[in-house]
Amino acid sequence: VPEKPESKCDVLIVGAGPAGLMMAAWMARCGINARIVDKRSTKIFSGQADGLQMRSLEIFDSFGFADRAWKEANHMIEICMWNPGEDGTIRRSDRIPDVPIGLSRFTQIVLHQGRIERFFLDHIKKYSKDSLHVERGVLPESLDIAADLCDNHSPDSYPITVKLRHLTEEEATPAQSNGSTVSDGLFRSNLADDDTDDLIAKSREKQGSTEIVKAKYMVGCDGAHSWTRRQLGFKLEGEPTDFIWGVLADVIPITDFPDIRMRCAVHSASSGSLMVIPRENKLVRLYIQLTEIKPDASGRADRSQITPETIIKAAQKIIAPYNLTYEYCDWWTAYQIGQRVGTNFDYKQRVFLAGDAVHTHSPKAGQGMNVSMQDAFNLGWKLGLVVKGIANPSILKTYQSERRRVAKDLIDFDHKFSRLFSGRPAKDVLDETGVSMADFKEAFLKGGLFASGLSVDYGASMLVAKPGDAAEQGDGTDVASSSKTRVIGKQHLASNIKLGMRFPSFKVLNQSDARPWHFQERLKSDGRFRLILFAGNVLSPAQKSRLDAFCARLAASPRLKPLLYTHIDVLTCHSAPRTQTELLRDFPEVLHPFSARTGWDYDSVFADDESYHEGYGDAYRNYGVDRESGCVVVTRPDQYVGFVGELDGEEGWSGVEAYFGGVLVG
Ligand code: FAD
Repeated sequence: VPEKPESKCDVLIVGAGPAGLMMAAWMARCGINARIVDKRSTKIFSGQADGLQMRSLEIFDSFGFADRAWKEANHMIEICMWNPGEDGTIRRSDRIPDVPIGLSRFTQIVLHQGRIERFFLDHIKKYSKDSLHVERGVLPESLDIAADLCDNHSPDSYPITVKLRHLTEEEATPAQSNGSTVSDGLFRSNLADDDTDDLIAKSREKQGSTEIVKAKYMVGCDGAHSWTRRQLGFKLEGEPTDFIWGVLADVIPITDFPDIRMRCAVHSASSGSLMVIPRENKLVRLYIQLTEIKPDASGRADRSQITPETIIKAAQKIIAPYNLTYEYCDWWTAYQIGQRVGTNFDYKQRVFLAGDAVHTHSPKAGQGMNVSMQDAFNLGWKLGLVVKGIANPSILKTYQSERRRVAKDLIDFDHKFSRLFSGRPAKDVLDETGVSMADFKEAFLKGGLFASGLSVDYGASMLVAKPGDAAEQGDGTDVASSSKTRVIGKQHLASNIKLGMRFPSFKVLNQSDARPWHFQERLKSDGRFRLILFAGNVLSPAQKSRLDAFCARLAASPRLKPLLYTHIDVLTCHSAPRTQTELLRDFPEVLHPFSARTGWDYDSVFADDESYHEGYGDAYRNYGVDRESGCVVVTRPDQYVGFVGELDGEEGWSGVEAYFGGVLVG
């Protein structure tokens, strides 16, 4: 079969799961020449992950498709805990809210992963103008990296050479096991061996077609068995456990158990544990501990012993005296709990790993898909801006320093959580080998903040102007600059807009049309940084002259002016009464620019004031910003806070300039 001609692309993405699709979404938004390949023919599996954290929904909203997920999903509001009473029979012992209250405008929801992937595919199609598609049945079979070219960031440097193999439809469709009529997800479970090498070998025998692609950057989003990780020789560190869980993923249950439409954690006295996840369309997902199945001498459980029948029998024992059966089952799977994290997340900032390729753990805490997407959400805009020659390539070092720490926290969280889940409940306080149900509830309550995705706090670096040595805060990697050379923001000026954390959201009113907005809604994922001016009380002459002076510097800055609006968006929120202020009179033009074709920008200046229909956001107080003097905040394209400084004076302005000077080229 003749080889296709050699081709070039800027970014090659391997794997089109949640991490790969998030990466492709950024490529589409940033207008990058990218390709995304996946070894499977189509999305034949029914689901896998289903839980979406509050932070993931905020991210979806920044791309513009959270509303689709929000409408279709089942909303998780309460967790019920069931434990053995004194007579050993299970009873409801507690109810707690599903997520901590007041942190986000979203709550946790559950929806089939296939739908989530659909939203991404539609988004990628729209923003790439139909030029970026997932190429299915295509996988890399060799990777060569010209190490000497890796530090050369000229636009015509392509250090990566990949040979791609194109499979036939049949080769790319995984076989189902156990002869079961219900489709299973075992081929993707950690109980199954990876089939990548087999696929390549068989396709070679048939002399299937191949092509050579040269790329500037490559991102391995190819899951827990990551081929890309293997080529780089990087390891996952950690251990499997003996706990095996089955998943009846997505049955319509027939039961008299009263909390089947609640998220439940059920610990039986001696038959193991079960988790209930109510889903959309009357479906319910059941995670069931299989206490009777143990790993063999090799440490791996025999998957042939696991069928939907063995799983439902285990569930019936746990949930007794209640009855539980089903007629309809979408699919099922099983996995062995283990927590592992990658030693390296990139090779020379040219080949990156994201998602399950660098962290694996149990699915019950509903984290894997979320954290995987958020890895790619962290990396995508950085790659996009570097490829376009806008950002300094050394920002790519912050990918590993920022995300490896999150992965380690995730592994620790899951380690604790899954042991509490899989352990037998303690009979009394003297029962040391059992799990205390009070500790379990406490872990749920405390873990809620982490599980929401909102506790992520990136360390000091050229992208996060907070005190501390970047290298100390990360993983020993050199994050391009130390606190000696970096600008340091003034956190006290906005005590609740934390440097390194995502910009929180409170309601503000559009100055021009009085419509209330959650401020975070204005921070779209379009690849732009945001300069947010908390303009303070613009009716005070002293404050107005500070604002005018700052804006005059901004409008005249040789460095920032050319980047305004295309790469740096400008948003303003003031604290004076909306009805006593006027857009054109009180706010300099740089805050609401004019062009003859588009007219004035009426969507960038906001007031912290009472709305007619949606109450008062009290944004200045909630953000911890002084109502008189305000401050200036810079957010990165992913909504994380990079810099906080004064609005006035030489120092405030030079801080903003220095922050961008470190990050952007030119
Ligand atoms: P994957 O989803 O594994 O995607 C990898 C992709 O790469 C696949 O499409 C694969 O075909 C492709 N690929 C692999 N190798 C190659 C190759 N060599 N060449 C080309 N392509 C390749 N997470 C949650 O957040 N919430 C949940 O509720 C949740 N529930 C879960 C339930 C179950 C039963 C399981 C098993 C997992 C669950 N998870 C959950 C975890 C979640 O599914 C994963 O963490 C997530 O899918 C990881 O995304 P990814 O893109 O990194 O990898």
